[in-house]
Amino acid sequence: MDAKLTEEWTKTQFIKHKQRCPASEMGRRRRKVLRSNRRTLPKVFACPRCGVVAVRITSQKDEASQDYITVVACGNAACKLRREFRFATEKPEIDVYNTFVDDFAKSGG
Ligand SMILES: [Zn+2]
Repeated sequence: MDAKLTEEWTKTQFIKHKQRCPASEMGRRRRKVLRSNRRTLPKVFACPRCGVVAVRITSQKDEASQDYITVVACGNAACKLRREFRFATEKPEIDVYNTFVDDFAKSGG
């Protein structure tokens, strides 16, 4: 009997709380979505050497120099083209990819 009463009370409080702060609830959810979007967007690009759409870009901040170390690598085992770049700021993947293609063209592979 007591447990059931407590459960009812908790439910009521929870509903009241949700009604009172719908804005904070929304704000929290929106921030979460934004963050996960940035991390999980799977972008794969075409490789300038082998032509396979298997190029992935991973970026990591170097704490020592405060640079962004960005690795561009082809996932094709027969190709394994790989370049490493340093940027002062975090670049969009498409920019990094363009730098990668330019660099490949300049160095002739
Ligand atoms: Zn390749």
